[in-house]
Amino acid sequence: MGRRRRQKVRRRPQKRIPDVYDCPACGIAAIQIVIHRDKSFASVKCGNCGISVVLEDITPLTEPVDIYGDFIDEYYRTQKAEV
Ligand SMILES: [Zn+2]
Repeated sequence: MGRRRRQKVRRRPQKRIPDVYDCPACGIAAIQIVIHRDKSFASVKCGNCGISVVLEDITPLTEPVDIYGDFIDEYYRTQKAEV
């Protein structure tokens, strides 16, 4: 077989990480994550219900999605503790 021309290569735009995430407390996508890399912490806050958590141990490799995951864990841990 000869050279096969590649069919149109679909360019996928780079997966964009959203700036806002769903809030576990109110269910609205209003979570904002601010990473303070110089101070090694991140703050997570919901613009709707106002819940906020500060997460420490941020490394230069920590992605917002990791922080979001930690925030969710932290949220549910707190919920359990209160019940
Ligand atoms: Zn909320």
